[in-house]
Amino acid sequence: MTNTLPFSTEFTHSHIYYTAETREAAERFRQKIIEKFSDRTQISRLVDRPIGPHPVPMFEVDFHSETARELAPFLEKEREGLSILIHPVSEDEVKDHVERSVWLGTKLELNIAFLEEFMAGKVESARTDLHTKK
Ligand code: ZN
Repeated sequence: MTNTLPFSTEFTHSHIYYTAETREAAERFRQKIIEKFSDRTQISRLVDRPIGPHPVPMFEVDFHSETARELAPFLEKEREGLSILIHPVSEDEVKDHVERSVWLGTKLELNIAFLEEFMAGKVESARTDLHTKK
């Protein structure tokens, strides 16, 4: 059980991955997070395609680190077998996603080349449409 995260930054992301087969579980899980944590988190819509470094569909829950103590065990307990990446948000996106990250469930292969290109200014952030309607 992840009671505390091995990093401390002001902002933390969690990415909950799903496939066509597990989309319903992801939607149920997302609703549970909304019911319990909507006052303390920002929860994205389901993004039904790979985006940025994320190799499969996912939704994202952003939170302040003080929320992690309660949210991380909740994610572990309720995730319905879905893979979750939890990572700090700092200036170094590659380190955040690779070295400082925590996985719940099966670890997926991220598109790190995207992050490297993003940090080098070669591609635009994929985040702009995350919280908007399709
Ligand atoms: Zn992220």
